[in-house]
Amino acid sequence: MKKLKKIPVFKNEDEERDLWDTHDTTEYFDWSKAERVSFPNLQITDDPKWMWEAIKEAEIGAKEGNWAMGCVIVPDGKIIGKGHNEGYSRKNRLIHAEILALEMAKDDLEAHRHQATLYTTYDPCPMCVGAMLVYKIKRLVTGIDLDHSGATGLLDHLPPFYRQEKFHIDVTQRILAQECKEVYLKGKPAEKHIKQHKIILK
Ligand SMILES: [Zn+2]
Repeated sequence: MKKLKKIPVFKNEDEERDLWDTHDTTEYFDWSKAERVSFPNLQITDDPKWMWEAIKEAEIGAKEGNWAMGCVIVPDGKIIGKGHNEGYSRKNRLIHAEILALEMAKDDLEAHRHQATLYTTYDPCPMCVGAMLVYKIKRLVTGIDLDHSGATGLLDHLPPFYRQEKFHIDVTQRILAQECKEVYLKGKPAEKHIKQHKIILK
């Protein structure tokens, strides 16, 4: 078995970036032994309040004829990014609520050292889980996952590089689940989807 290199210690993000710009790609590090860092600024008590804001976004999605899924990003009591699914209205399957919210929040995320919580009414798809890793979202709070399409389970099976603490995402599920379900059912595509995939609504 190949011997793993010692974990490098970086003084700042520039140093870390330098290493990844210049490192020998045939070498790799045992990130599972990397030091864990805590992020004390994240607040969890306001979860229902912010999920309501995501639900309001989902409502807009429904009115536009899209999947009724909404998202907001909150670092410290203020929304810095929000969005709703626009896949149908913009004829682009990639325009998910989370992607739009991350796009809006990207500069503020840097300023807040990425210590933000992302609220989304529906468990995110694999693409959006990947985008959250790229933006180093620290907490993910979700509402429902009726058709088991949610990909939060991928976080337990990441490639070694993404197992560093700086990419760790804490997940909280089923916040305002009933309300998230009600708004989801207002979305035009949901009715056909539920029938087609024989989804049982509890
Ligand atoms: Zn997605």
